[in-house]
Amino acid sequence: MSYFTITKENRPSLEGTKETEVCIIGAGIAGMNLAFLLHLSGKKVIILDAETMGHAQTIRSTAKITCLPGFFYHDLIERVGMEKAMKTARYLRKALKKYAELVYQHQINCDFQRLPFLLLSQQTDKIEKEAFALQRLNFQCSVQKQQSTLLGEASVLTLEHQAQFHPGLWLEHISRGLEIYEHSRVVQVEDHCVYTAKGKVKAKHIVFCDHYPFINFPGTYFMKMTQMRSYVLTLSNVPKVDTMLYRADEPVESLRFAGNMALYSGFSHPVGKGEEDVLEQMKRKAKERFPQCTIEEIDSAQDCMTLDGLPYIGKFSGSKQNWYVSTGFNKWGMIYSMVSAMILHDQICGIQNTDAEPFDSLRSIMNTPLRELKFSFQAASGLMKEFLTLPELKMQDIPKGDGAIIEWDGISLGCYHDEDDTYYFVSSRCPHLKCQLTWNAAEKSWDCPCHGSRYDRYGQRIEGPAESQTILIRKEKK
Ligand SMILES: Cc1cc2nc3c(=O)[nH]c(=O)nc-3n(C[C@H](O)[C@H](O)[C@H](O)COP(=O)(O)OP(=O)(O)OC[C@H]3O[C@@H](n4cnc5c(N)ncnc54)[C@H](O)[C@@H]3O)c2cc1C
Repeated sequence: MSYFTITKENRPSLEGTKETEVCIIGAGIAGMNLAFLLHLSGKKVIILDAETMGHAQTIRSTAKITCLPGFFYHDLIERVGMEKAMKTARYLRKALKKYAELVYQHQINCDFQRLPFLLLSQQTDKIEKEAFALQRLNFQCSVQKQQSTLLGEASVLTLEHQAQFHPGLWLEHISRGLEIYEHSRVVQVEDHCVYTAKGKVKAKHIVFCDHYPFINFPGTYFMKMTQMRSYVLTLSNVPKVDTMLYRADEPVESLRFAGNMALYSGFSHPVGKGEEDVLEQMKRKAKERFPQCTIEEIDSAQDCMTLDGLPYIGKFSGSKQNWYVSTGFNKWGMIYSMVSAMILHDQICGIQNTDAEPFDSLRSIMNTPLRELKFSFQAASGLMKEFLTLPELKMQDIPKGDGAIIEWDGISLGCYHDEDDTYYFVSSRCPHLKCQLTWNAAEKSWDCPCHGSRYDRYGQRIEGPAESQTILIRKEKK
């Protein structure tokens, strides 16, 4: 369960036909920040969410708002040059400032707090290069070599005056007065019309803030993004510090405080490719770092990773001029959702903005680091191999409480063996784009390593771009 729970309101679901200027698909931080800015500019907005506001990735975040998303600017300058890196840095600074201004102007009670952000690594040369890049981009930062910190011995790059907040309280405040329909999954979008099971919205502008665009064509975001899964432990009895920490060495660890609790997160891995005991490893590390701590809650979430480390913000595709997208936050959606809200607000309101260029959703992938492209190609070829070979396991090989892809009557199936001796057979292919699902032993779910869709052990949809509610084929009692 997430530390940042949110009071569920009884919002209606969409029925019948509505008309509006802007229809936003998805009421996470990306959709809500944009809706708020447009609302303040007097635009009529309707927001549709498949479930409830903020429930998906947003309230599972650890909600650090920082202009330093890990090791970032040194590589960025090398890849895109000073001018674009400067525009990127300017936008991140503007987004952080925007949060502070909105909190102040609208008296938003969301535990917003200015704190230093500490980037830690054992690689001192990398820390020094990142600090040099930051200074070139007009940030003030400092470096301390090999310090003892709450996340172990490391060189430390400190960026002052960053922020953290409570994303649930933030959403609750900014949603006041907005027209939001919940339990209203969008199933189809055509030119100026958005359809749910029971209604439709006609809109001049349509914005996809659904975390991972559920439409594959046009846009083809599935070819430009993977998803990474991370875990959050809520810990009590950790000595409190007035900083946010992010240790960029593998496995990545991050720490912030919220009230008397510490939110310890990280141990990320591509969806569908985690080690079986990843959560146990993380719990052991927590105990090693904070011997007195008690683990109060365990949670997990995932985020979209882009090929070049920058989000996709802007037009959804060249062929749909009134469709927009906001996705690919690379695990830093608190700051990027505000960057995105400001950019899309300006585009929808017809305001010229040349600083948005580095985030352009239609940018070429020519500057993509080769290692990222190689990763995508390797994933695809690995999947092909799995298609061509039948698994060796049979259903009787699966112990209770476990699952696996098995061979059953000459075909591959997913099979979960429940504690009460029932076998749940599911399709071994993801309904999204037919990639082979993998069994996630840590969370007992079926995960798609290509695009991050997930189904629970009984084959019911949890999240991701796959639209089918179930992959269950049948169940059988032993
Ligand atoms: C463990 C962890 C820690 C993190 N910590 C930080 C941090 O410290 N700082 C930071 O900046 N970022 C952090 N992040 C990243 C951040 O949480 C995400 O980038 C951000 O929450 C993504 O927001 P979103 O609005 O795009 O997605 P979501 O919150 O997932 O919202 C998308 C919404 O779209 C809806 N939706 C989907 N499909 C449809 C459909 N077809 N029709 C209608 N609605 C639909 C969903 O129901 C959902 O409500 C963290 C991420 C993880 C995993």
